[in-house]
Amino acid sequence: MNLEKLVRPNIWKLKPYSSARSEFKGEASVFLDANENPYNYPYNRYPDPLQWNLKEKIAKIKQVRPTQIMLGNGSDEPIDLIFRIFCEPQKDNVVAIDPTYGMYEVCAGINNVEYRKVFLNDDFSLNAEKLLKATDDNTKVIFLCSPNNPTGNLLNRDEMLKVVTQFSKIVIIDEAYVDFSSERSWLTELNNYPNLIVLQTFSKAWGLASVRCGLAFASEEIITFFNKVKYPYNINLLTQEFVSKQLDKEPEKNRWVKTILKERSRLQSELENLSMVKKIYPSDANSLLVRVDNANETYQYLVDKGVIVRNRNSVSLCLNCLRITIGSPEENTVLLNELKSLK
Ligand SMILES: *Cc1c(COP(=O)(O)O)cnc(C)c1O
Repeated sequence: MNLEKLVRPNIWKLKPYSSARSEFKGEASVFLDANENPYNYPYNRYPDPLQWNLKEKIAKIKQVRPTQIMLGNGSDEPIDLIFRIFCEPQKDNVVAIDPTYGMYEVCAGINNVEYRKVFLNDDFSLNAEKLLKATDDNTKVIFLCSPNNPTGNLLNRDEMLKVVTQFSKIVIIDEAYVDFSSERSWLTELNNYPNLIVLQTFSKAWGLASVRCGLAFASEEIITFFNKVKYPYNINLLTQEFVSKQLDKEPEKNRWVKTILKERSRLQSELENLSMVKKIYPSDANSLLVRVDNANETYQYLVDKGVIVRNRNSVSLCLNCLRITIGSPEENTVLLNELKSLK
């Protein structure tokens, strides 16, 4: 893979903003280099633009090098940066599975980049050949998401591998739900495939959606481009310190995941008994995609009862489907009781 052919020429040539904090690194007793206020320590100081303390900690947990990590304001930031780094507006295109996470298409639109959707099979499985056929010389990026959203299913690993090995440009694997999955992460393959970018997030299993911290993992060379294009201080000090502390709660995260998985099984078996439920799709995520008699009516009925699920009726291949997030045991019981009293 020749990265120079993939990165937009203006980004390849870009001389990034050099902040005071990146020009001088190290210990000193007097800092008069950044026009900071000398009072109100530590918030008066600009934070580490590359968040090394936090990345060191994440690297140990994820078994990668700190230089293979980019941290963003949620995964949404690296998704947007991928377009800005690789895709020339009105010329390049990206290919993605359909249905999938809506932000890829929104970011393509914002960046004026053609977004090519390739239907998954009826059971939401991936056909690598069909996906690859939709690519052409101007395709810079392929988006995969596994476990997928809103469907919840894992994509077949061998089919994904075909995409990663047969497409010589950038392949994104979004693993927002990897902690809920029985399948292992693609992070272990990072050193084998220089075209791979793996996305993860603290928003789901770690219970930190409000904190806005997402992760992109890739080769050191790709990460240098993320670092060039991102805002210099994209992760503030409060977030860096707070996420670092939260990482010490990994055992608690694992207990949450265990409870959620147990509840996913319970919800599935109880939903199966309801006559309005036509199909429950297999899930490796913290949600169930459920086909019902009439999704719009069921959605509105639940809203009136104060229970909000996601109506996916108008999404490709998801006619009459609701996406139900697995809540606490109590919340799930409320949902089940409301649905049982419907019929
Ligand atoms: C929820 C989700 C994310 C996470 O987005 P954040 O911006 O990190 O909160 C990313 N990808 C998928 C597929 C998701 O469902």
